[in-house]
Amino acid sequence: MGRRTAARVAIAVLAATGVVAAFATMAPSPVPPPTDAPLVEALAIRTDALLPPPTSYRREERFQRGDTLAAFLQRLGIAEAELERLKRVRALQQLRPGILVAAEVGVDGAPLYISFLSNSRDVVRVGGRAEGYRASEERAVFDTQTAVKTSVIRSSLFAASDTAGIPDSIAMQLADVFGGDIDFHRDLRKGDRFSVVYEMHHFSGRPVRAGRVLAAEFTNQGKTFRAVHFKGGYYAADGQNLRKAFLRAPLEFSRVSSGFGTRRHPIHRDWRAHRGIDYAAPVGTRVRSVGNGFVDFAGQKDGYGNVVIVRHHGQYSTVYAHLSRVAVRRGARVEQNDTVGFVGQTGWATGPHLHYEFRIAGQARNPLSIAMPAAAPVAAADLPAFQAHAEPLAEQLDLLVASDLAQLE
Ligand SMILES: [Zn+2]
Repeated sequence: MGRRTAARVAIAVLAATGVVAAFATMAPSPVPPPTDAPLVEALAIRTDALLPPPTSYRREERFQRGDTLAAFLQRLGIAEAELERLKRVRALQQLRPGILVAAEVGVDGAPLYISFLSNSRDVVRVGGRAEGYRASEERAVFDTQTAVKTSVIRSSLFAASDTAGIPDSIAMQLADVFGGDIDFHRDLRKGDRFSVVYEMHHFSGRPVRAGRVLAAEFTNQGKTFRAVHFKGGYYAADGQNLRKAFLRAPLEFSRVSSGFGTRRHPIHRDWRAHRGIDYAAPVGTRVRSVGNGFVDFAGQKDGYGNVVIVRHHGQYSTVYAHLSRVAVRRGARVEQNDTVGFVGQTGWATGPHLHYEFRIAGQARNPLSIAMPAAAPVAAADLPAFQAHAEPLAEQLDLLVASDLAQLE
């Protein structure tokens, strides 16, 4: 990577200093040297005589907290005379802090158009001065590029993604993609590392929104997992499905819940004595079913407080206790990741937390000691297509990992 860049720079320097041209004239050639007379002629032409002065110019400004619409429009170079009519346009009244607005403004201070991205999908365009300004909305056309980033966990996944400039939505997708293998609330360790290849949608040349994770590698406690996106799922390099019958963690992974769990909690106890796992989390954090199944119990049960028990296939069941609120009814069907309730401290709980049990044939077991069955791998007929798709992505990950290790040396 570095060498290639250096070579490119060297060529640019050679070209700029005319060394390339010198080599060319030195080379024996039967072709007469090209005459440069027309070029000299062209340079002599006065450009200011040819180019008319601009009748409009383009400007970009970000709507700031505390901005009034009038002040903001004036910052875009729009004349006071236009403000009254523009202030009546509803789309402009809905501008929010942080939105980047582009305007093409005539020399008379009247905008030819004002445009901005109203949400993650639509672009608003205000124009038509003659008719008193009107807004139209259309689906934005994005230019999608691939971004590659790598980072090391020092405190939390979000701190690591912030350091590398990785969007939150990508960090959360990572937690989802590897959620069958890694409990992102409890398993992360300082020194864990990850690399990710993802889509970044650009609008008007600026990155505006992250898309999907295309491939990722995560090293957790010395164990490395890889994922490649293919036909709506995530698969390991050998085509095994990363989605497991059960998620490792019953708590939704978010900026709030992830920071909370790293603090020491007074009720943290040894698994054997306690037959379950406690997740310290703020009251109201979403609790999700770790797998598909049916609600076997939803209500109050002495020490458990508000509790939901989900029966899964085979002899598996899961228990979610001390909930502030139960979100399902007995007998209801739930799928993996469906909300069953919210974190609370009902029953015998000294602080807000989720008490989680994984049971086999009614006996609480340590879920970490159980190999979780996985969803179906890539179909045999799709394997060649999968491999052709996965190979360049794997190469990108290899490059990232190599450059990351080189930096550490
Ligand atoms: Zn507990």
